[in-house]
Amino acid sequence: MQITTMGLVLRATKTGEADRILSILTADYGVVSAVAKGSLRLKSKLFSATSLFCYSEFTLFEGKTMCVVDEASVQEVFFGLHEDVEAMALAMYFAEIASTVNPAGEEAAAQLKLLLNSLYFLSEKKRQPRLIKAAYELRTLTNAGFMPNLVACAACMQYDSGSFFFDCSTGLLYCQSCAEKKGIQCNLDAPALAAMRHIIFSQDSKVFSFTLPPQSLALLSQAAGQYTLICMEKPMKTLSFLETVLT
Ligand SMILES: [Zn+2]
Repeated sequence: MQITTMGLVLRATKTGEADRILSILTADYGVVSAVAKGSLRLKSKLFSATSLFCYSEFTLFEGKTMCVVDEASVQEVFFGLHEDVEAMALAMYFAEIASTVNPAGEEAAAQLKLLLNSLYFLSEKKRQPRLIKAAYELRTLTNAGFMPNLVACAACMQYDSGSFFFDCSTGLLYCQSCAEKKGIQCNLDAPALAAMRHIIFSQDSKVFSFTLPPQSLALLSQAAGQYTLICMEKPMKTLSFLETVLT
């Protein structure tokens, strides 16, 4: 069977002499594995469109074990990713999360859209890398069914009282006085919590539309990162390198 779909190349691994094995995030079929034969030859018409983080229209034949790329035409290349080690490291981390989450059905379209937006902001340097990272993490987890419960304190329903404690192992929120009763220190200030709420509740197009003072961004960054690691339930291979280059 032949299918035509838009997709983003999450991974491109060389195999044989000049072939690539691709992992492609598509809106219609989730994550698809496909071989792009001869695509590493400079003259191949598949060369650009099957490169890492290229967003392309693919025509695929379903093979016995994996699809075969018949045609691919470039829709969007995020050039900025290839000029900046930090942006590339973050993009690879996002791709690993997307592969791990492995979305299907309607979720695949939402995850693809979010990842394309994240790569755009990274590539164009429109936002700080840590802000993009936290926003991607919390929103992708929300899309995947791991939405943290940020409405109010899980113990007393207080929703607006300055500092809060976000419990990364449960996704629950505690106000300062409930946290103190448990002998726990708060890990979010008011702007960091407002940003977390914005990321999970805003419309798709607004996810990255916020700013934070450096101290609050650091708190957001830490909470989002820890929550992600717990939800992923496995070490992320791309994270150790990312941590060496993330500013
Ligand atoms: Zn409380």
